[in-house]
Amino acid sequence: MSRIASAVTAIRIRDAVAAVDDPEYPGISIVDLGLLESIDIGPDGDITIGLIPTFSGCPALAMIADEVHAAVSAVNELDANRVEVRWLNTPAWTVDRISKTGRDTMAQEFTLAVRNKLEPVACPRCGDETTEDSLFGSSRCRAIHLCPSCAEVIEVMRSGA
Ligand SMILES: [Zn+2]
Repeated sequence: MSRIASAVTAIRIRDAVAAVDDPEYPGISIVDLGLLESIDIGPDGDITIGLIPTFSGCPALAMIADEVHAAVSAVNELDANRVEVRWLNTPAWTVDRISKTGRDTMAQEFTLAVRNKLEPVACPRCGDETTEDSLFGSSRCRAIHLCPSCAEVIEVMRSGA
């Protein structure tokens, strides 16, 4: 494959991967969630997609890999047998990988905020600072916050570590 052909193919592959939504958050692309790390096209046309899991043990990982494999294989003239989807161990996924588009959709559609380090979490509805609700604070990756201004209940996604 020529250099230009592989650059064009890489763009088409990226678009195909971007069309795959996170199963937990329909409408949010896995690319906006920061799962796509690499697209490698070998000299003989073998394609390897490197993905980063958001949280280890996420039951949706196999489903996501299957959907990415199908989407990439559907890019014209690609042989499904030469497309491989790999989950990478490094770099670690952090909430910093979520795009602005991803954050906006999370806030609007799911009342889901993203927490960077120990910064306060702004309410997706009104922008005021929220407080963590210790009663319902759920998993290691998710917490429930309450907004004192508009009484909104907000799910907060944070980095796993
Ligand atoms: Zn609010």
